[in-house]
Amino acid sequence: MAENDIRNVIIIGSGPAGYTAAVYAARANLHPLVFEGSVTAGGALMNTTEVENFPGFRDGIMGPALMDEMRGQAERFGAELVADDVVEVELTGDVKTVRTATDTHRAHAVILATGSGYRELGLPNEKALSGRGVSWCATCDGFFFRDQHIAVVGGGDSAIEEATFLTRFGSKVSLIVRRDELRASKIMQERAFADPKLEIIWNSKVAEINGTDKLESVTLEDTTTGEQRNLDATGLFIAIGHDPRSELLHGQIDLDDNGYVLAQHPNTGTNQPGVFACGDLVDHQYRQAITAAGTGCAAALDAERFLAELE
Ligand code: FAD
Repeated sequence: MAENDIRNVIIIGSGPAGYTAAVYAARANLHPLVFEGSVTAGGALMNTTEVENFPGFRDGIMGPALMDEMRGQAERFGAELVADDVVEVELTGDVKTVRTATDTHRAHAVILATGSGYRELGLPNEKALSGRGVSWCATCDGFFFRDQHIAVVGGGDSAIEEATFLTRFGSKVSLIVRRDELRASKIMQERAFADPKLEIIWNSKVAEINGTDKLESVTLEDTTTGEQRNLDATGLFIAIGHDPRSELLHGQIDLDDNGYVLAQHPNTGTNQPGVFACGDLVDHQYRQAITAAGTGCAAALDAERFLAELE
């Protein structure tokens, strides 16, 4: 590949972080090449229905429509979008290499925006009812479940945080725990035990998610006896953890113990000069579309500054 084939910047990822980085990089005339992924282009919001908390849409907007707007906005300013997966990266050195199954691309700067995935229960109806009663994010969706019976799955800190938060909306919240104890910290446990709207269903797992157009109930199975029963919950929040999509990056840049990219907050730089990271790939705290978009913007501005200093 000739020297002039080296791009300014390659963006890997197509959620709010990647597309926002693309808008900013394109408007700065950096002609970004964006890898969107082959199956999940558009990111996590492609799996949801209404998004009510992204500023600028007073009546809310459907997740896929919001992502289509972001995509179109990036394209309008000249971002080159490729619906393919990056399968390998070389991020050390002055010129970075990014490979798909068929092509190799090089750039002076790379923006990583591959997001993270919520862990799933692996049950048949789970995906189909996502955004229709099944959710992974209380901050995003709690509001939709006012005065309803909500079930939350998980026994760690984040499950209790989600469950106690949801008691603001639900008529009742049932926390479904596999064992006869919680993994959560003592302070979180005390908070859960003290909450009058929160019941804990011990030694139980969700065996079935029931409903056709929306969630109607869940079938619980006792993990000690195998006995099954119905729980009339119309909301199910799955809070069993999430994993950053950082498999490509092992051995290339610094990650924390959970695999999230270590960015130099408030800057989006990583330990490799010219490599920037944004969105849920670096953030296990806020995990919102607007915060991902915000750090996507910052990553593009950081990359722009980095490239200007190379000239
Ligand atoms: P993602 O949106 O996860 O996008 C990353 C994308 O990058 C991937 O999907 C894929 O397309 C691409 N990618 C990954 N690996 C590769 C690769 N190797 N090569 C090429 N491309 C790759 N937030 C809100 O603010 N409001 C809400 O109402 C809301 N509702 C939600 C509902 C659901 C069901 C879910 C799952 C999340 C919701 N969130 C909501 C959270 C929000 O979606 C995330 O915080 C946000 O999408 C994170 O953006 P991101 O750009 O970092 O990553």
